[in-house]
Amino acid sequence: MSLADCVYALCNNDICILPTETVYGLACSAFSVEAIKKVYDLKGRPSTNPLIVHTIDHESGGDISFTNEYSKQLADVFWPGPLTFILPKKESVPDQITAGLGTVAIRSPSHPVFRKVLDQVSLPIAAPSANPSNKLSPTKCQDAIAAFGKNCPPFLDGGQCDIGIESTVLDLTSPSPSILRLGPITKEAIENALGIQVQYHGNILNKPKKINSYQSPGQALKHYSPNTPLFLYSTLEQMLQSNEIKENDVVILPTSKLVIQLPVKSCSELYLSLTGDPKEITKNLFQTLNEADKLKRKRIHAALYQSDHGILSAVNDRLRRAATERF
Ligand code: AMP
Ligand code: MG
Repeated sequence: MSLADCVYALCNNDICILPTETVYGLACSAFSVEAIKKVYDLKGRPSTNPLIVHTIDHESGGDISFTNEYSKQLADVFWPGPLTFILPKKESVPDQITAGLGTVAIRSPSHPVFRKVLDQVSLPIAAPSANPSNKLSPTKCQDAIAAFGKNCPPFLDGGQCDIGIESTVLDLTSPSPSILRLGPITKEAIENALGIQVQYHGNILNKPKKINSYQSPGQALKHYSPNTPLFLYSTLEQMLQSNEIKENDVVILPTSKLVIQLPVKSCSELYLSLTGDPKEITKNLFQTLNEADKLKRKRIHAALYQSDHGILSAVNDRLRRAATERF
């Protein structure tokens, strides 16, 4: 579709697939209850899982939410970019977007195609990832198209997403900001920008009782999953010594520079990075899981990163949620 067709669709209660710098989004007007329903139906997304609304800047974010000093300070540093704020919502925002919560998630995307669309529609645009609920997020347009098959809505192809995982979600509704979803903007970077500590209640998969499901309803334990079972190991060494790896499995490795000996020779090896650069690993994560899935083998194997800080903590978070078995 052309940019003009996309603008027309969004202004007329319809939906389309758009590129963002994080992952591809399934877009609708945040004010169209009819289009919002199409997004939930196509994704098979539970109505209890709220959507992120995209705005061109912090000022227009103020049309739909009560912004504050923290959001202003952080937007000055990180917007446009992959940081989402949870703020009290204004009345104009339909309950269908926020799963009935009194808060709304807002972010300003940096992808030039998405920004052109925002500029031309002059509407806030909701855009969850363009994939069936709980499956792998698409970082290339072809993956979104393949995920929806014959039900695929019109799309704009903007190439491979630069960042490759979803935005960091930060709750700014209390004097003590807290991270609800790890992402590309790290805890350390947010703390530096605000000059205060922010909360993160740890890896919820290790501490299930800590989840506040009311606070962040969509943070399901099982998410981002390939169709092929993903076996996840605590360390690379553990993976390489595992008896679980069988003939014809797929093994995902952090970098091509590793000189490794796989326990079984007939496995396919896929690399997340040529150099080991954390940004490259992040960018290729979902893409590589998608490629592994397409090989249609019995199992995929991957290992967690040992440096569980910075952007790799977000990669580990996605791997934990994608895993079928953990060792
Ligand atoms: P996705 O659109 O799949 O990237 O997911 C957006 C996520 O943002 C949701 O799954 C929630 O975890 C979070 N979120 C969105 N809106 C809110 C809100 N009002 N309060 C808390 N978390 C939210
Ligand atoms: Mg998603």
